[in-house]
Amino acid sequence: MISNISSRLQKLRQKLVEKEIDGIFISGTENRYYLSNFLGTAGYLLITERDTILVTDFRYIEQAKEQAPGYQIFQITTSASDWFVPLVTELGVTRLGIEAGNITFAQYRQLSEALNKAQSKLELVPVEGVVESLRMIKEPGEIEFIARAAGIADKALEYIQEMIHVGMTEKEVAWEIEKFMRENGSQSLAFEVIVASGPNAALPHACPSERQIALGEPVVVDIGAKVGGYCSDLTRTVCLGLPHPHDVLFNRVYDTVLEAQLVAIAQIHEGVSGNEADSLARRVIDDAGFGQAFGHSLGHGVGLTVHEQPRLGPNMTDILTSGMVFTVEPGVYLTGWGGVRIEDLVTLENGKTRLLSRVRK
Ligand code: ZN
Ligand code: ZN
Repeated sequence: MISNISSRLQKLRQKLVEKEIDGIFISGTENRYYLSNFLGTAGYLLITERDTILVTDFRYIEQAKEQAPGYQIFQITTSASDWFVPLVTELGVTRLGIEAGNITFAQYRQLSEALNKAQSKLELVPVEGVVESLRMIKEPGEIEFIARAAGIADKALEYIQEMIHVGMTEKEVAWEIEKFMRENGSQSLAFEVIVASGPNAALPHACPSERQIALGEPVVVDIGAKVGGYCSDLTRTVCLGLPHPHDVLFNRVYDTVLEAQLVAIAQIHEGVSGNEADSLARRVIDDAGFGQAFGHSLGHGVGLTVHEQPRLGPNMTDILTSGMVFTVEPGVYLTGWGGVRIEDLVTLENGKTRLLSRVRK
């Protein structure tokens, strides 16, 4: 068994005890990879105190043997009653956890109907966030992948700042960024590139359009690369030429958002909650009179997916601890005018934040 996989499984088994279940059925794609190293796009894991089983269909059997050497490999046959029931019966599980957030209703119904038909006593117990809570604390190797993905996004941003010009459409800018990241080692995009100019920048998740970028307006660029399965997430707001002469707003908004972000990055430390972290930045924005215009939360964890635990936002109770990787991304959005968002990726190390992204313009 690959060493990091066995330590993850050990932690998972402690969780099984806490949740009072004697096995767990893993159906989430990233969770399956995290616990087995298996990259196939179909299959499930069944993990009990003693057994580690990977079930997949015939297309992936060889790949599974190679990538998940510590697992017993089983082949999925036509219906769940054919493979699921005999398997769980043989394992002797009585309370099997299922990932409530990662299983479709149809899959759940199939499993429970198969159990009923066989008059099995096995109980399916919905659990949430079990593997996600392990994924929240990154190993050094995972942070290394995220840092490499962040480095590619940094370079893409430097590149686009050189070549962006008045008259380019948002779509053209987005495509240049996408090409650059793919040609510079990003295995795919962490998410679709966001380029939002002028009034479009007032929409936090705008889709690049045919709109041509004009002089003196805010342009929000939000990008993420992917390396070794791990994502990055970076936002900068740029302005071609100087802001419109009458637009004193731009500098006021920009300076407020930047100050909010720097204050949060400097003051977040081990032990603060997602809510407390959020309020560090929110206070700066409130004091500047833009409180109503910061409509989203301060940040989110990043790893195998671009949005994961911990959550940094109002009422978020996750406690930030060393080994976590998350974004700090305050923003101010004014309908009809535009918006400013500045987003960096940090990790908590020895109790303090360390930046994983580096461009600051
Ligand atoms: Zn982002
Ligand atoms: Zn983000």
